[in-house]
Amino acid sequence: MGPDTRMQLDELMELALASAAVTQECACAIGSYLEWSRVPVSFPEQQMKVIGTLMDDPYAEPTFAEFHPAGTHYWSADAPIALRHYPANRCTVSQCTVCGRCCLRYVEAGGYYVEARIRALDPRLIVDPPA
Ligand SMILES: [Zn+2]
Repeated sequence: MGPDTRMQLDELMELALASAAVTQECACAIGSYLEWSRVPVSFPEQQMKVIGTLMDDPYAEPTFAEFHPAGTHYWSADAPIALRHYPANRCTVSQCTVCGRCCLRYVEAGGYYVEARIRALDPRLIVDPPA
């Protein structure tokens, strides 16, 4: 498994379960990013390591379709993390080298801005329906 190989559901689930079990306090505060959030300026980038990606084919534009069967929306803390849907399908998976927590990250590009976003990898929310 390298950072360029698309992670499969079971690999990601394993990481998410390990991440959710971490209880130590850490400067990364990954556990506090329940919903998609802007990466704060104070975020300890030097502690983070990219360990995988959810991007499938680097030459194909991933779908912008989101997955919200229970009426959640993009900003919901309980929105599913659907691997083949937006925005998980353009995320990398990072791990904090200090505490071991994992998060998803991507760069949201709007018309006039780009914004780095982060969300904790919560095993209760991960699903993998077809896109
Ligand atoms: Zn940490």
